[in-house]
Order: sequence, then C-alpha cells, then structure tokens
Amino acid sequence: MTEKLTGKLFLIVGPSGSGKGTVIRTLGAKYKGFFYPISYTTREPREREKDGESYHFVTKEKFKQMIAEDDFLEYAVVHSDNYYGTAKTEIIDALNGGAVVIREVDIQGFHAIRKIIPKGNLVSIFMKVPNLSDLKGRIEMRGAIEPEELQRRLDSAARELAQAGDCDYQVHNEWGKMKVCMSDVESIILEEIKGLY
Ligand code: 5GP
Repeated sequence: MTEKLTGKLFLIVGPSGSGKGTVIRTLGAKYKGFFYPISYTTREPREREKDGESYHFVTKEKFKQMIAEDDFLEYAVVHSDNYYGTAKTEIIDALNGGAVVIREVDIQGFHAIRKIIPKGNLVSIFMKVPNLSDLKGRIEMRGAIEPEELQRRLDSAARELAQAGDCDYQVHNEWGKMKVCMSDVESIILEEIKGLY
C-alpha cells in the first residue's frame, strides 16, 4: 500500500486548544496546493462548524461501519468519548501522487500513523503550550463546554505533553504569539519539502 509514496504527510499534534486548527487554517489560506484531508468524528459539531468543513460528522453506527470496511488509516477514541479517524484512501492516493498532506491528529493517531507511513514520507510537529492553566483559558474561549468535557481535555493534554518528544519537531505557541508559532511551522514545512518540488 505504501511502497511508492512520493509525497509528504505532516501531522500537527498537540493538546486541545494548542492552536492546531488555527495553524492549519492559516496554511490552507496561503498554500492552496497542499492537501488538507477532513477527518471523521462522532462528536457533535460546535456552533460554527459545518459538516464537511472541519469534519465529516457521523453517527457512532456509521463510524463503526467504516471501521469494519477498513476505511481508516487510523482512528482513535479521543478524550474518552468520541471517535476520530482519518480516511485511508484519499491520504494514500495523495501521497502516491506526490502531494504535501497536512492533518491534525491526537497523539494516538500519530503513533498509529508512524507505524504505517514510511519515515521518509512523514513529519510530525508537536505544538507546545506554556502551561495547563493557559490551555484551560484557550479551550474555554472557543465556546461553552461542560466541566467534565473540559476536565477530560485537560487530562488528555497532560498525557500528550508528556509525549511531545516523540515527534520530529516541537514548536511553542505562547499566549499572544501565534505569528511566531505559525512562522516556525511554516519554516519546518518549507525546509522539509525543499527539493521535493
Ligand atoms: P476536537 O474535538 O477539539 O476537534 O479534536 C479533539 C482531538 O482529536 C484533537 O486533539 C484533534 O487533533 C484530534 N483529532 C482530530 N482529527 C483526528 C483524527 O482523524 N484522528 C485522531 N486520532 N485524532 C484526531
């Protein structure tokens, strides 16, 4: 399945609220030639999210049917409740065609994908945040959230931050310094694809 991949898959990893979505949206606006696959999830859409834009929002039944049909490159239960998964065919086809593919996943997704995609075709970037109280503020700013859900996300964050060193790169997203973080991510990507295109 992966023997003739010529493209590169960039995984943006990091806790909920670390700014992965903003990084990917900013890249998307600037680099139209990159491929940004949309994952599937069983969580409810947030207020401004539309199906097919941030995610394909599906029921647990549909998600389980997709698992049974081997549709996912990887999938995981994230924050102990909902399923999230990256569709296999579109990512492999894009990598076969030499594309630069950019996707955010949780740390489980990263560990699963690195067992499948050859090292030369995969780059992982971990987004670090200064501390958990900062992160809590950012998650709350995104919109109303149940206290249990907030706590689950903070618990996952602590686990994810402990594994940051497993990724190829770590970038820091400090409060009010998104531009610096963005430029760090961009430099990594441009350096990694130098000579490829
Ligand atoms: P959110 O609910 O905040 O959109 O995402 C929750 C977590 O799931 C985030 O860490 C996000 O990166 C991760 N995630 C999003 N899509 C995928 C996916 O396709 N696979 C995995 N394993 N995690 C994902």
